[in-house]
Amino acid sequence: MPKIKELTALEILDSRGRPTVRATCRLGSGAVASASVPSGASTGAAEALELRDGDPHRYAGLGCRQAVGHVNGEIHRCLCGTVFDDQASLDQSLIELDGTANKSRLGANAILSVSLAFARATAAESEVPLYSHFAEMLGRCRGKMGQAPGLEVASSRIRENSETFREGRPPTPNPNSHEFGHSPSKNVASKAPNARAPEPAPCSAIRRFPRLTINLFSGGKHAGQQLPIQDVLIVPASPTTVADSLVMASAVYQAAVRLTAAKYGQRWLTADEGGLGPPARSPEELFEDAVQCIRDAGFEPGRDVCLAVDVASSHFYRDGRYDLRSQPCSGSELIERLCAWTRDFPIVSIEDGLAEDDWQHWPALREALDGRALVLGDDLLCTNPQRIARAVQTRACNALLLKVNQIGTLSEALHAYLLARAAGWQVVVSVRSGDTEDDWFSDLAVGWSGDQTKAGSLTQSERLAKYNRLLAIEAELPLPIVDWPHVAEAGVRTAPPS
Ligand code: PEP
Ligand code: CA
Repeated sequence: MPKIKELTALEILDSRGRPTVRATCRLGSGAVASASVPSGASTGAAEALELRDGDPHRYAGLGCRQAVGHVNGEIHRCLCGTVFDDQASLDQSLIELDGTANKSRLGANAILSVSLAFARATAAESEVPLYSHFAEMLGRCRGKMGQAPGLEVASSRIRENSETFREGRPPTPNPNSHEFGHSPSKNVASKAPNARAPEPAPCSAIRRFPRLTINLFSGGKHAGQQLPIQDVLIVPASPTTVADSLVMASAVYQAAVRLTAAKYGQRWLTADEGGLGPPARSPEELFEDAVQCIRDAGFEPGRDVCLAVDVASSHFYRDGRYDLRSQPCSGSELIERLCAWTRDFPIVSIEDGLAEDDWQHWPALREALDGRALVLGDDLLCTNPQRIARAVQTRACNALLLKVNQIGTLSEALHAYLLARAAGWQVVVSVRSGDTEDDWFSDLAVGWSGDQTKAGSLTQSERLAKYNRLLAIEAELPLPIVDWPHVAEAGVRTAPPS
């Protein structure tokens, strides 16, 4: 049973040169591990709060000394010497220690750094790879769900919330609930190491690798707003391994570098997640460019390589209208335009096609894209179980973008994951635009059997660390990549209209 001996933290810099938190967890057994927390720029309003110092003379107010101080001080003092049954009990202690709904007292950055470092130290103590440890964590929660309450608890909460929606009340506030995996009691951590160590993780629980979605072009908040939409990603569709997917994606990326230089006269300058940021005049021109790059690389659009789009429309939604520059439009008009994109281009996933508060229009978007493209919620859901329950009930979308730091602990992210799975959704595991060289993301995506990963482009070491770790895991676990969901067969065109 893992007993925490010491927790320390350090302010480090992320890929944008902004401060973030790295924590180190030392267990009584001597196992020790560190983990670093990423940070978003295109953030959802419902995300847990990243604690920043606000001192304008240090990193323009973005310093993380307070968050680091909380790990070194209060969190260390309260948790040191405590034996935790599992990740859920550690996370519950962190949540209770913080005592706020959005982790604003200690900071989600401080809390997540400890949650992650503990997971890694526990995996080290059990002498299993981190992905196995994550798989075991998922298996335990699924096991508990299978015994009876689990899925039912999830769906009864969804039912409960739906009733309150129908009555016009907000959903039951339950930001810190953990139906899956541990006792809700206050004194969740045991001081007495009296139970057996967990069984080594069952690698057999991992049957497939996630399919990669790789950033090609960026606009919006990731590339200086030269276009309102945020990311165009390529989805290697035909490869069955990570290694082959990267070969394919690399060829398309190099074609994009050449196209950007030849067509836009632009040097190889990259956006926050390593994508290129050409000054296209419209989203449609960017999709045409992407399709051209796929062809230039020798592949067939829609068969070998598809596209995914992060519209990130919360960030150009004002007063009930979408400000797509030349063509501002209503929610219904934007849905028509998104549908046209999936008809005219081999787009198989649309993320945040509508704004995070435009709940009214989301069900129509899901209906309109059904069977053509995933309707993926990022800002809409914020990896938050309450928002996911609402989206399931209202049929707002059919896929979850899972970003652990949006909610702030591994256990809550797992709860979000299980709710999405219970609804039959796809799960896309995502990094953040400000990330670090830490690669726990890849172990999580494999261990929790994500359907897809979203780790950015094939440049910049903080992105490549994730792909390199996936390659290393693939060498240990030679499993095929998960099939693309039914949408791929359901009528993507192989070429845009001429
Ligand atoms: C995204 O919007 O999906 C993303 C990865 O960017 P950020 O981390 O800025 O939210
Ligand atoms: Ca997004």
